[in-house]
Amino acid sequence: MATEHVKCLIIGSGPAGYTAAIYTGRANLSPVLYEGLQPGGQLTTTTEVENFPGYPEGVTGPVLMDDLRKQAEKFGADIRTGIVTGADLSKAPYKFTVDGEKEITADAVIISTGATAKYLGLEDEKKYAGMGVSACATCDGFFYRKKKVAVVGGGDTACEEAIYLASLASEVYLLVRKPFLRASKIMQERVLNHPKIKVLFEHNAVGLFGDNGVEGVHLVKRMGEADEERYDIAVDGFFLAIGHKPNSDIFKPWIDTDEVGYIITEGNTPKTKVPGVFAAGDVADPHYRQAITAAGSGCKAAIEVERFLNQ
Ligand code: NDP
Repeated sequence: MATEHVKCLIIGSGPAGYTAAIYTGRANLSPVLYEGLQPGGQLTTTTEVENFPGYPEGVTGPVLMDDLRKQAEKFGADIRTGIVTGADLSKAPYKFTVDGEKEITADAVIISTGATAKYLGLEDEKKYAGMGVSACATCDGFFYRKKKVAVVGGGDTACEEAIYLASLASEVYLLVRKPFLRASKIMQERVLNHPKIKVLFEHNAVGLFGDNGVEGVHLVKRMGEADEERYDIAVDGFFLAIGHKPNSDIFKPWIDTDEVGYIITEGNTPKTKVPGVFAAGDVADPHYRQAITAAGSGCKAAIEVERFLNQ
């Protein structure tokens, strides 16, 4: 099969990828975008999105992503189903494999492959997906006003999410598997001193229950080396905050990533250390991880691509 060559390749179809496609499309760069494993990205797994500017009545994640996709197509973006499975960024034009077979080369590239929230791996997390289980407090916390929720995790994200949720919910349980929090000292203090947050150390969630959505969590509390206690707590929401995995593996031989795998870019720009290769959205953002910040960084990456190609 002959290798196809494109000017601008966008890898990933979340808010960053689609926004980059809108901008590069309008700049007549004929972008080709591969949607990846989850077309539309993480937002397609949430229900209502109320904090994306421009939608005063709110919008569902799938509709928002479909709108962005249509807007990109309107400006000529070639949006394709397919997963980029291999990358060679050793020299320009950069070379990629799609779905393990097709080869494509590109002069400029935007990596917007996102990050995948980690789940515990319980069957019940799938059973109650969109019905009380969430991996994003900022996205879904609003639906739990004056209700009880549980957050799993002991890192900075879990603490931040617990504090955010405590501003809305009536009570927040923080389920920590170890006898201590891993989060920074200041976050630990905030959580431990918060009147609405109850930290349950050495607790593991082993299942969820409820007839129409989550109504509670089955817990196992470790008691010393060999003993354990099993009991349930009643909650309406179950939030995972046990980390994200940035989808950067195939690019790692050529670009810098931090210890978790987030792509490191130059200063406040989307530039990686490879000329013409840019990173946008959650794959390069350990801190904000919002649809709107991803869209903003997709815009920046597109502008950088235009400058790079015009050099
Ligand atoms: P972390 O990897 O720091 O923490 C993950 C937490 O989840 C840990 O407490 C871990 O437990 C727990 N965990 C992992 N797997 C399981 C499991 N299967 N069951 C139960 N618990 C589990 O991830 P974060 O997302 O919190 O943070 C990522 C990075 O981003 C960190 O460097 C953090 O400091 C940074 N960050 C900074 C913020 C800020 O500065 N404002 C805000 C948010 C994040 P254990 O400790 O037992 O491994």
